[in-house]
Amino acid sequence: MYFNKQTIVFLDGEFLKATSAKTGLYNQTMHYGNGVFEGIRSYETPDGTRIFKAKEHFDRLHASAEKMHIKLSYSSEELEKATYQLLEKNGLTDAYIRPLVYLGENMSLTATDVVHVTILVWKWGALLGDNMLNVMLSSYERPNPKSCHMDAKVVGHYTNSILASTEAKQNGFDEALLTDMNGFIAEGPGANFFMEKEGKFITPPLGNILSGITRATVFELAKELGFEVEERFFKPEEIYTADAAFFCGTAVEISGIKKFNDYSFPMNWDDSNSQLIQRAYKRRVACNEHENLYI
Ligand code: PMP
Repeated sequence: MYFNKQTIVFLDGEFLKATSAKTGLYNQTMHYGNGVFEGIRSYETPDGTRIFKAKEHFDRLHASAEKMHIKLSYSSEELEKATYQLLEKNGLTDAYIRPLVYLGENMSLTATDVVHVTILVWKWGALLGDNMLNVMLSSYERPNPKSCHMDAKVVGHYTNSILASTEAKQNGFDEALLTDMNGFIAEGPGANFFMEKEGKFITPPLGNILSGITRATVFELAKELGFEVEERFFKPEEIYTADAAFFCGTAVEISGIKKFNDYSFPMNWDDSNSQLIQRAYKRRVACNEHENLYI
């Protein structure tokens, strides 16, 4: 699914066949989860292949690395350039891009100076599919931001995401929604959450969640379309009073939610402002850099 005999990857400044690229068994990331990564998408646009919000993603990779005391020696511009080269070498336009910064050999619990950078690209449809989702309130909560940097995209944090997604799937749902340490809604295992109430959007504030680049794009689109967005804490029960809801993230894009636990959102998705955001997002990612196309 991810690679074949022809696939090329970027590893520490070189372009190599995926089948011949190697990594060590003693690296700190593999044992303790100390590494940082990104999830980015490129789209085919009238101007050719474009990485959506490349600078924001590579800058976040740098910010994540810094929080984890990882010295990343490539600039955002260098990483962006390498990614465009890699997409071309693999003949990909609409692609998912996974930069991963992982560490060298170190079995102690301290920062490591040997830092490796790999970039992998593959063709990937919407992660949660294009259907409306059934979402379960997770029995897991997101880690307390006092225990780790929840605004950084750190490898080890995703054990929490895997537990929550697995639990949801084992219970017949498509995805999980997790609370924070205070019982307020936080985010999905790999996406931010918005609900729509009387035409207005409500989403949890930054602090206990990943600062999603798609979330920021939803803010931009809502503003341009004249919709209000409120950032505030709310409990799961308040979702039972919402008209519609969606997850947003680079991989899932904008995925409408049909049901939350037993509650079916009453508004027809096609009549919701959420659906207008979904359509605007699809246009935005595939349009020319400065073009504003909506409906
Ligand atoms: N929250 C979590 C936990 C995530 O893993 C992601 C995906 N990176 C998001 C939110 C959405 O972030 P973005 O829109 O930048 O992809």
